[in-house]
Amino acid sequence: MDGYSDGIILRQTKILGGRRMVTLFSKEFGKISAGTRIDERGKSKAALSMRPFVHGRYEIRELRGNHYINSAEVVRSYYKIGEDVDKFMACSYVLEFLGKITQEDQPVPRLFDMTCDFFDVMERRKSHFGTLVMAYIVKAVSEIGYEPEIGHCVSCGRERPAAAFSVKDGGILCEECLRRLNTERESLIYEVDFGIVGILRYFLENPFEAFEKLALEENEQKRMKEIMKKYSAYYLDLGDLKSEGFMADN
Ligand SMILES: [Zn+2]
Repeated sequence: MDGYSDGIILRQTKILGGRRMVTLFSKEFGKISAGTRIDERGKSKAALSMRPFVHGRYEIRELRGNHYINSAEVVRSYYKIGEDVDKFMACSYVLEFLGKITQEDQPVPRLFDMTCDFFDVMERRKSHFGTLVMAYIVKAVSEIGYEPEIGHCVSCGRERPAAAFSVKDGGILCEECLRRLNTERESLIYEVDFGIVGILRYFLENPFEAFEKLALEENEQKRMKEIMKKYSAYYLDLGDLKSEGFMADN
């Protein structure tokens, strides 16, 4: 896979001999692990592209099954993300989430573009960072094939108003099906009102720039978080996220 790709550094670790191992979410090749000699603490332009929240362009070489980043340059640095602790935490959570939901060597170019759009809007935002994170989770899980069904009841298939959201069935339940399933004591069913379904639809149908001024109310945010947390954990192997505190406290 020799070539150039745009990308975002997800994480990096130091290894012996002044080298580093980085996990790069590249637009062309998907998530890859690569060795590099470029030090993020350096003063060069290449160094800056090794930092988090930077959209970079990376020269990737493959040698005997291992990847190396030989050179890199910054396309855009979302440096303002680092100027606010809460914003930084929210964006760190998204990077970690992105690292967990993507597979090695499987490109998802739209998810890459979406992540850059998220950073762009986040950089300018002053408050309610959690609203954007919720939008990111909903859009990201949809991008990799787990879009929640909100148009039809997932049990009977009819176009009915939503009475609940079933994590296991991946979408909304109508009043009738909710009553039936509830008596069977199904877990992972959350009662929802039109507000929550409307928010999901709004997230799914609009780009990030449309959310620039959107702020969920505290109660909506709490419900969305509860549902999306269970939803993403059910479909994706998230394990323990280090920035999990973000999902717990905000
Ligand atoms: Zn139904």
